[in-house]
Amino acid sequence: MRETVTPTHCPYCALQCGMNLTPAPDGRGVVVSERTEFPVNRGALCGKGRTAPAVLAAGVRLTSPLVRDEGGALVPASWEEALGRVGRGLGGIRDTYGADAVGVFGGGGLTNEKAYALGKFARVALGTSQIDYNGRFCMSSAAAAGNLAFGLDRGLPFPLEDIPRTGCVILVGSNPAETMPPSLRYFTELRENGGTLIVVDPRRTKTAEHADLHLAPRPGTDLALALGLLHLVVAEGRTDEAYIRERTGGWEETRAAAMAHWPEYVERITGVPVPQLREAVRLFCEPEAAMVLTARGPEQQSKGTDTVGAWINLCLATGRAGRPLSGYGCLTGQGNGQGGREHGQKADQLPGYRKLTDPAARAHVAGVWGVDPDTLPGPGRSAYELLDALGTDIRALLLMGSNPVVSAPRAAHIEGRIRSLDFLAVCDVVLSETAALADVVLPVTQWAEETGTTTSLEGRVLLRRRAITPPEGVRSDLEVMHELAARLGRDGENLEKKFPTDPEEVFEELRRASAGGPADYSGITYRRLAEESGVFWPCPVDAPGPHPGTPRLFLDRFATGDGRARFVPVSHRAAAEEPDEAYPVLLTTGRVVAQYQSGAQTRRVDELNAAAPGPFVELHPRLAERLGVAEGEPVAVVSRRGRAVAPARITTAIRPDTVFMPFHWAGEGRANTLTNPALDPTSRMPEFKACAVRLEAVEAG
Ligand code: SF4
Repeated sequence: MRETVTPTHCPYCALQCGMNLTPAPDGRGVVVSERTEFPVNRGALCGKGRTAPAVLAAGVRLTSPLVRDEGGALVPASWEEALGRVGRGLGGIRDTYGADAVGVFGGGGLTNEKAYALGKFARVALGTSQIDYNGRFCMSSAAAAGNLAFGLDRGLPFPLEDIPRTGCVILVGSNPAETMPPSLRYFTELRENGGTLIVVDPRRTKTAEHADLHLAPRPGTDLALALGLLHLVVAEGRTDEAYIRERTGGWEETRAAAMAHWPEYVERITGVPVPQLREAVRLFCEPEAAMVLTARGPEQQSKGTDTVGAWINLCLATGRAGRPLSGYGCLTGQGNGQGGREHGQKADQLPGYRKLTDPAARAHVAGVWGVDPDTLPGPGRSAYELLDALGTDIRALLLMGSNPVVSAPRAAHIEGRIRSLDFLAVCDVVLSETAALADVVLPVTQWAEETGTTTSLEGRVLLRRRAITPPEGVRSDLEVMHELAARLGRDGENLEKKFPTDPEEVFEELRRASAGGPADYSGITYRRLAEESGVFWPCPVDAPGPHPGTPRLFLDRFATGDGRARFVPVSHRAAAEEPDEAYPVLLTTGRVVAQYQSGAQTRRVDELNAAAPGPFVELHPRLAERLGVAEGEPVAVVSRRGRAVAPARITTAIRPDTVFMPFHWAGEGRANTLTNPALDPTSRMPEFKACAVRLEAVEAG
């Protein structure tokens, strides 16, 4: 008998590596094998992707709805009882306190179909404006800066395959060697081809070890660093004046702002020596083509939009953006971080990446949904603000595919807000720390058990295919929304008909809703996705033949009214919380190779747990000596928001004024207990990457 091989994609990060799945010989679950024909990873997988089937196993994942009993325990229940409780819980709050008293919180791991349906569910079935998702914590500053400068945000406006063929890449606050290991080959091939790699990171990460030049600024100062580089570009006569004249607007003000940032001043702010700044400018400007790629480092700041804007300004002044093998891009983190922000689960967006405040966009989408545009609510709170309003303005929450008890900033406070809700319903695969606080937990299908699309960091729309039958007792998120809609209709309204359960049917509706929008998917079909290695949006329906998709954006014009990119003048400002006498050290947070995001899935995989069993505090030997702490001994890290304890990991790979903690764990080592929810005024991104802390040695227990 021939083996059934299902080509699909990894459930985790935005690289969306291709993989093949075959049924396991013992009949339980699936086995992962190489899918070499998928061009992005050519068969390579990291440990997370390779071990992803472990989360499909019974005993790890949920297989029955859970409801809270009178004694306060979560106990198994039938779907009928659980859905009834959710319908009454959400509907009761809506009917008593108004629709905006119900919140909806989504995730960047949800497929496009689920993200689309969730945005529609919030606005049509519940009528609430209060919906946002955890992608707000991921790349929203890059999205805001991209929209301001280019009139459009697509993580990478060019495919990854362009990286090895450019002349220089500045990688800012990104550690792909750990976050998406198969992508490292693009950077090693770049160097093999004679190009150079500059890494900007306060830590000498595994990626920085591959760099020709490593710049290690103090956390929260990379805006000043970019301004210093732009100053030198101007001072050394390296601007591309013809490009600036023909393809941009607003240069003079930006130029003036950069000229106020003298290299010596920038060295004082950032700690990066002037000769290194000069070397970076030389490496970046000498080749014909060059790129700047950012990730969470510059983005997760209370000035993240300006920081990314400063790096985009550098690209524009040197004539890089919108040219072959050149430009600015963002390396999105979550599996569907890109698609998740395009289809309406973001507080201010409608499907197709349309603005919720645009009357024409509202009319178009309302037409597809069969509702009156005047009934669509306006923009709601951003993710942190929504979570912060729980238990006060927002009394009930439906949460899908997110674990904010671990991943939100000021997490102990947010946990308290979640506990104070009148009603919490969570749809998840596992009993995450947030699901454990719910009144009702609905167990849902996951990647290998369902079909759906995701959009990778390249803007490449991909088809994830169902490879096995889900276990008894679980349902898809789409079925959940269908069933809840049936329970939320008023006056005999047949709401469930608006929420199909078949993913392809939802995608067909998404195509219509996105048609004509910035993220136009109308020319993409499941059939095409099954036959091609993904399709890049925008891909409008294009008679007579199929539109080929758009791997490279902006080569002729930018997506602004006049086709020109916009310089956005920015100036250095300090992080919202700078070190002082009481809290003299900077904390920055991030990820490790063997865990993913809040760890809800990967902490349940034995092999990954063995590789990364718990949190740690990375600190410089000088700091450790001052504290009297040896390797492995517990260290308390205290901020104005709380205290976390984890073993010391002592290394010269970090600046002496900075400590690092990974954020994958709950409990006393929860890094996000410490982080600062100061928000970027444009993107509403919290400042995960820099806050002031003090360190205390702890007696080992
Ligand atoms: Fe999955 Fe990302 Fe690892 Fe690829 S790099 S296998 S997409 S987690």
